[in-house]
Amino acid sequence: MSLNVTTARLTVRCASQRARAGPPACKRRSFFSSVSSRPSTVKRRARRDDESPALPTPTPIPHEQLVHSPANAGQVDAYPAKTVAVSIDENPRTFDTVFLRDSCTCPKCVDPHSRQKLFQTSDIPLEIEGKARTVQDEKKGWVLEVEWQNDVPGYGPEHRTVHSIDWLRRALNTEVELRAGVRYDDRVLWDRDTMTKNNKWIDYADWMSQDTVLFDALAHLNQYGLLFLKNVPESEASVVDIASRVGTLKDTFYGRTWDVRSKPQAENIAYTPQFLGLHMDLLYTSNPPHLQLLHSLRARTPGGESFFSDSFHAAQKLHDASKTHFTTLCTFPVTYHYHHPTHHYHYTRPTIELHPHPKYSEPTNLALHRVNWSPPFQGPFEARIGGESQTALRHYIAAASAYEGLLSAEENLFEYRLKEGECVIFDNRRVLHARRAFDATKGERWLKGAYVDDDVFFSRLRVLEERFAGRWVADGVVRPVV
Ligand SMILES: [Zn+2]
Repeated sequence: MSLNVTTARLTVRCASQRARAGPPACKRRSFFSSVSSRPSTVKRRARRDDESPALPTPTPIPHEQLVHSPANAGQVDAYPAKTVAVSIDENPRTFDTVFLRDSCTCPKCVDPHSRQKLFQTSDIPLEIEGKARTVQDEKKGWVLEVEWQNDVPGYGPEHRTVHSIDWLRRALNTEVELRAGVRYDDRVLWDRDTMTKNNKWIDYADWMSQDTVLFDALAHLNQYGLLFLKNVPESEASVVDIASRVGTLKDTFYGRTWDVRSKPQAENIAYTPQFLGLHMDLLYTSNPPHLQLLHSLRARTPGGESFFSDSFHAAQKLHDASKTHFTTLCTFPVTYHYHHPTHHYHYTRPTIELHPHPKYSEPTNLALHRVNWSPPFQGPFEARIGGESQTALRHYIAAASAYEGLLSAEENLFEYRLKEGECVIFDNRRVLHARRAFDATKGERWLKGAYVDDDVFFSRLRVLEERFAGRWVADGVVRPVV
């Protein structure tokens, strides 16, 4: 907007002042205005000096009337400008018109069926300006309607962008929370006693048929990283049916489903009856599976108990005991690999990954993102292995040893021997799993396994959150359904 002044533009300037300094000084009882994005204190003061002799006495307007007053509905009370001021919850808020234009959801901007965007952000002219009003919509309540000057090429003068006040409020809150770096986190860190008290069992038929049960179960799984199903039909397809309630299965070189099987005189030594220590699966891939499912089809050998340990709980304990060890595990690179004639996977990652987090309060919120712990699949260390770095490896071993002690401490292990017709689901990026040795000569032990990716799990969880909780979570920010 040009700074060439007309009397009418005083209104615009008042809206600008309103946004910065509280009570407005405009003569018109406008509840909405667009404002210039290029305020210059010096020029504005000069302009006021030039023109303000006739400026009326300021009349305070309650902030909610900036937008929400029905008496003011439909007024266009501004000239086109590069920012738009809206009163939200009695506070004047300013939006860049480029943001409002970019997020337009009209049928010309977003295909109603595919919901795909029909223009590019980069198509928006930087000189675009908006002129807005508030109107009441039957479904959306109060909405902001913007008409455009210098719109994206191909859009005519009839093009309008409509955003509900609720949506604008959510956009603001999300931005503020992302900037503050405070993550919503309802995960419950557990030891044996906590898990024994809070362990959840779901009936297979309910899981398959009731969305409310599924929501409750997935929310629990997200909180604890561990869940059990019972009364699962004796079928190799059952684990597919269970996983499919969450979403698409993750296919790997082990197959879409895979067997952990031991028979008397088993010909395949890949699945031995020996003790298998605490580990996570597929850390040698760039995106290891999020959920792992194991359905017990045969449990006819003595032994073979499963046990689980919350790596986040142990990380918290390690942090409490030694900040130095904790920092070492956050930084020292560990290589995992699966190096065979036909498959060669290789990936290096630190043991503990935190969210990129500008500030987190200690010690309750460590912003833990992931833990990587899989000793059987470690490859040789590749960084900091000698020379001046040789102490680094020794520091890592000391830290890893302290961490392992916490992971495998009896009071931190939840042990359970899966019976036939039961299925365990756990968060493979958080809950470590292990198996005690069993006697393979005494009978058959057979688990059918499957994986589900993180994107698939969180997509399903969000759909259910939207439906049953009226809110959803992404990037650590809770967003109300609007
Ligand atoms: Zn549009």
